[in-house]
Amino acid sequence: MKVLVVNCGSSSLKYQLIDMEDESVLAKGLCERIGIDGKLKHESPGKPDYAVDAPMKDHTEAIRLVVEALLDTDHGVIKSMSEVNAVGHRVVHGGEFFSQSVIIDAEVKKAIEACCDLAPLHNPPNLIGINACEALMKDMPQVAVFDTAFHQTMPPKAYLYSIPYELYEKYKIRKYGFHGSSHKFVSDRAAKILGKPIESLKIITCHLGNGASVCAVDKGKSVDTSMGFTPLEGLTMGTRSGSLDPAIVSFLMGKEGLSVQDVESILNKKSGVLGLSGVSSDFRDIEAAKSEGNERAAIALDVFHYRVAKTAGEYAAAMNGVDAVAFTAGLGENSPKSRAAVCSYLKYMGLEVDDEKNACRGKEIVFSTGASKVKAIVIPTNEELVIARDTKELLG
Ligand code: AMP
Repeated sequence: MKVLVVNCGSSSLKYQLIDMEDESVLAKGLCERIGIDGKLKHESPGKPDYAVDAPMKDHTEAIRLVVEALLDTDHGVIKSMSEVNAVGHRVVHGGEFFSQSVIIDAEVKKAIEACCDLAPLHNPPNLIGINACEALMKDMPQVAVFDTAFHQTMPPKAYLYSIPYELYEKYKIRKYGFHGSSHKFVSDRAAKILGKPIESLKIITCHLGNGASVCAVDKGKSVDTSMGFTPLEGLTMGTRSGSLDPAIVSFLMGKEGLSVQDVESILNKKSGVLGLSGVSSDFRDIEAAKSEGNERAAIALDVFHYRVAKTAGEYAAAMNGVDAVAFTAGLGENSPKSRAAVCSYLKYMGLEVDDEKNACRGKEIVFSTGASKVKAIVIPTNEELVIARDTKELLG
C-alpha cells in the first residue's frame, strides 16, 4: 500500500509518498510561494533531485505539479496514480469533533470548516488541500489526521480555563493542544525503546522546535499539554511568547496605542527567544551568540529551558510520577546543551544524564545513566509516518 501524505499551509504544500510495506519514503517534496509565483522541490532516494520554478496559482495547481513529479520518467517513482491507495492530510484543528483520524466525507469537511474560527491560519489551507486532492484524484480515499485529536483524552480539569463556563459552551474556548501526532509518535516509540507496554508508563514528551510544546502521556493517553486554545500558549518559542499574564494585552494596547491585531502580531511573531535575545528565532544562532558572550542570548535560553523544565515538573505532578522524559523536534533532537540544561532541573525526580550519551544529534538514544530512575530519551519525530499509519489503519 502506498500513501501520499499532504500538509498544506497557506502558501506551501509539503508531501511524502510512503510505501507502507516497509514504511520507506519513496519521494518527498515541497511546493512554496503558491498563489505568488511557485517553486517545487522534489527528491527521491537514488534519483536526481528536481527543482523547478512553476506558476502555481492555487493549491490545485500545486497538487497537479506534485502528481506530475511523482509520475515523471526521470525523477518520478510511480507509473500511474492508481499505484497510490490513499491520501492522508494533516489537519491542524479538529475542535471537539474529532478524537481520532477519520476518512473524509462531506460531513467531515463541514466539521473542519466549523473549526476554521479556531485555527484561521491553518484550517482553511488544509481544507483547500483536501478539495484540491478530491478534484484531481477522483475516488481516491482521503483521510484527515488532526494535530488536536491526540489531546482529546485530556480531562476537563486540564482543558477548562477558569472563565465563565458559558463562554466554553458558547465559543468552545478551552485547551485543545497541538503537535498531537508528534507527541503520540514519540510516546509510542519511548514505550518500545523501554521495552514496556505503554499502558504501564508515565511519559513526558518535549517537542522542542520553532513551535514547542510539552505533553503528559499517562498510559498512552494525553492528559495535559502546554499549548492551549491556540498554539500561542505554553512554552517560550522561536517567535511566540507562550503563556503570559492576559492583562499584558490591554496594558500594551493602552500604553502603545496598539490594536488587538498589533498585540497578537507582537506575541506571535516578535516574542519568544527572538524577542528576548534580539538575535534570532533560530536556536542555533542564539546558542552561538551565547557562546560569544551575548548576555541576552543567554537569558533567552535560560527562560526557555526553565519553562520547559517547570512544565515537565507540573506534568510529573499531574501524573503523580514519571518514568521517562523524551525529547524531539529540531532543538530537542539536535541540541545536547538544551537537553542537559532542561534535565539539570529534573534531578529531583531521579533523572541523571550521561553526558557522553547526550553528546549526539538527530538519533534515537537513551541518554540517562543506567542508574537513573527516570529515563531520558531522544526520539526523532515523524509526523508524516503517523499520518500514513493512521490512513492505512482506517482503510484496512
Ligand atoms: P523545527 O521547528 O522542529 O524544525 O525546529 C527548528 C529549530 O530547531 C530551530 O530553532 C533550529 O535552530 C533548531 N535546531 C536545529 N538543529 C539544531 C542544532 N544542531 N542545535 C541547536 N538547535 C537546532
